Amino acid sequence: MFRTGIGEDVHRTDPSRPLILGGVLIEDGPGLRGHSDADVLLHALIDALLGAAALGDIGEHFPPADSAFREADSADLLRRVVEIVRRDGWEIENVDSTVHAEAPVLRPYKAAIRDRIAAVAGIEPGRVSVKAKTGEGLDAVGRGEAIRAVALVLLVPEAAVRARTGDEKAAR
Ligand SMILES: [Zn+2]
Repeated sequence: MFRTGIGEDVHRTDPSRPLILGGVLIEDGPGLRGHSDADVLLHALIDALLGAAALGDIGEHFPPADSAFREADSADLLRRVVEIVRRDGWEIENVDSTVHAEAPVLRPYKAAIRDRIAAVAGIEPGRVSVKAKTGEGLDAVGRGEAIRAVALVLLVPEAAVRARTGDEKAAR
């Protein structure tokens, strides 16, 4: 009836690049190194979606060696993965996520990130959660050498969503 999926990603920080998290440009970087825009949060979310639908992982769908994805906008990749998952008969019930970053402070950006993910995934912002933590000065995240993200999604059959919205309409 329901399918859950988890995704995790980590990228090395690179002050020469812009920081993009959840499809939002974060002004007070450091940026992240990667073959695409290195959006660690969207990469984790893409893997969570593919995992829940048992459709492989981000590397299989968008091979790093493929030059087509070199400067890829990860929001486009997410849009494509949401389409793939929907074609397989699933709807997104909710998304939960945590970004682990020593800097910058993400609190001022969380609402924008949440709205952006919801817009790209075609769901209400109330179904998207974005949390932020520091690395407490420990490990690569704590030393500011990397930013890590973890995402979890719940998928429900599209037919169940249709039945539920039908019920809501009937109840009105
Ligand atoms: Zn990545």
